[in-house]
Amino acid sequence: MSNSPLATYRRITKNKNSPRNHKIDRITIHCMAGQMTGRGCADYFATTSRQVSANYCVGYGGDIAVSVDENDRSWCSCSGSNDHRAVTIEVATDSTYPYKCTDKAYNALLDLVTDICKRNGIKKLNYTGDTGGNMTKHKWFANTACPGAYLDGKFPEIQREVNRRLGTSGGNAENGGKLWFVQIGSYAVKQNAEAEAAKAKAAGFGTVIKTATVAGKTLYRVQIGAFGKKENAEAQMKKAKEKGFAAAVL
Ligand SMILES: [Zn+2]
Repeated sequence: MSNSPLATYRRITKNKNSPRNHKIDRITIHCMAGQMTGRGCADYFATTSRQVSANYCVGYGGDIAVSVDENDRSWCSCSGSNDHRAVTIEVATDSTYPYKCTDKAYNALLDLVTDICKRNGIKKLNYTGDTGGNMTKHKWFANTACPGAYLDGKFPEIQREVNRRLGTSGGNAENGGKLWFVQIGSYAVKQNAEAEAAKAKAAGFGTVIKTATVAGKTLYRVQIGAFGKKENAEAQMKKAKEKGFAAAVL
């Protein structure tokens, strides 16, 4: 097992288990909730008294640092069983909602994820919206907003782009890559979309606002999830309806 040649800095933290007990077959993308360099984040993991780490840190300028060798298990997702099989990646983001990352960080993330898949024999990313796939989220294992609304909403796009680079088609095998989106509203006024998203967030849903141009007008669509399986999208829609949202599966 090796580390990514894309990394330009390596500072190993004591916050890890060595070696990992499972072969790498997952990727877990996290948000730093701070605009750090990759190097600065690895330095932090090496010196903090908190029991936290990640395999890789991607900085706001796109630099990549190794904090835990791929061969070892990072302390990143509040789940031993996840982190023993996942390569975990912290991405520099804003410290406030929606925890946006820079384009440079995002592009470096795409390069890194593609490289991890190639070196570890992961033939395609399979984002299912649950732990059945190979793209997992910290918030599925702990009470956290991580990876933050911005990166959360990017998972389908990350899957598509990395699979394109790997030379495989879009999404998961069962449905040819189609994703089912759960939408709770579509607004011409951005503030109204943000208000609806805030309500959904308060009710415990992860939200993302997507813009679409319809007949020359911008629409702000509030969505609360993307799923590889229609049943999962329908279950989320049902949950949202029970809480009073006008949810629909797209
Ligand atoms: Zn996290």
